[in-house]
Amino acid sequence: MSAPPASTATKRETQGGLEASCHAPPTKKRCHSRSASPTIPPPVRRMRDKTLYFADGNFVISSAGDEGDVEEANDVDDSPEDERSKDIVIYFRVHQSLLSRDSAVFADMFTVGSAASTENMYDGVPLIEVQDKAKHLRGFLKAIYEPSFSTSSVFLPRYSSNTVTVFEGPLLLAIKYQTEVLRVRLVTHLTMDWPGKDYNAWRERKHPDEGVPNPEELLRLARMTNLSNELRTSLAVAYYALLGYATSTWLSEMLKVTDLMILITGGCKINTWLCVWIKEGTRKGIPAGPKLDLACEKCSLEEFRGRVLLDWMTECSATTSRVIEYLQKVAKKLEGHCEGICSRKCRIKVGEWLKKMAEAFYDRLEEIFLDGGNEEVDEGKAEGKTDDSDKDGVETGGGDDDAASKMVVG
Ligand SMILES: [Zn+2]
Repeated sequence: MSAPPASTATKRETQGGLEASCHAPPTKKRCHSRSASPTIPPPVRRMRDKTLYFADGNFVISSAGDEGDVEEANDVDDSPEDERSKDIVIYFRVHQSLLSRDSAVFADMFTVGSAASTENMYDGVPLIEVQDKAKHLRGFLKAIYEPSFSTSSVFLPRYSSNTVTVFEGPLLLAIKYQTEVLRVRLVTHLTMDWPGKDYNAWRERKHPDEGVPNPEELLRLARMTNLSNELRTSLAVAYYALLGYATSTWLSEMLKVTDLMILITGGCKINTWLCVWIKEGTRKGIPAGPKLDLACEKCSLEEFRGRVLLDWMTECSATTSRVIEYLQKVAKKLEGHCEGICSRKCRIKVGEWLKKMAEAFYDRLEEIFLDGGNEEVDEGKAEGKTDDSDKDGVETGGGDDDAASKMVVG
């Protein structure tokens, strides 16, 4: 229930560090385990987590902490402040039954049995030392102990602007320790925040006053956790949302070159598709848009189409690409007066057509942003990613840049 510490919110990890901690298997090997005699200064600053150190826990997990963990833990030794080492180890005392229940990896570890041996002990119970960051481990354990778990809210309000900070530990470790229930819940939360398959859910989403989810964070989290395929439709919505913000506000340190290529190509596609669809033309490589069912002699559709495109260029496309919102807005404006459309009856028809077009854009966001062959370039290698690179890279081959350069319509 309690939100994770704010102190972790501003820290940004390098990919390398996360990868290392994500893929290194847990070790039961132990270095300095005994509760040392208080007269000998400890080689490291040893601390016990404030909330995840249960007196009746039957084993201890330790991992390396940093200064961000100090607020979250209590010192084990009373050494004076200036003698404290900068190397911090955090101890979590938890319950074998709970971790075995949720995590296949921990279940195996306990079954194999050596965790129960007395070889590596701390505070009278077996000790397991892991290579994960303490803040990740804390988030993961909190998620397992969190009693208010539900599918719609996972210790984080919907539409939080803090998703990566809060989710990275639980999600990385849920994957690493095969804690499938937790992994699915976290992914479900993300897909509800970014409802790639539900136009109405997307339109009706409400953000708390204090923030909106950052699309850059979703892109980064998906990459970090290697979930780009599973989160694909949500990623497309995130790219679209990002394109709706002025580039000067982008959290560019979270973006990769690949992201920028996807955004540039996607923006071009949106412009091209809008031209083709408004004109009701056809063009190779562009799906047919919704058809306008209007046979009226008095309406000047040519004038209307020109007006819609001109307004788009003036108001929207120069700075953002919120084509869906734009079409919705034009449809709404049609309820009043509109150049080129003769009567209320015709305006209703045209308005319905534009609304369908808005929805068609939404339904095809994945195609607009992620079917262009941009996902691959060179980055997959650098990040050691596998799944999504293998699947998406080959088929498209990058023949899509013509969408950007030609605008032959109708
Ligand atoms: Zn008319």
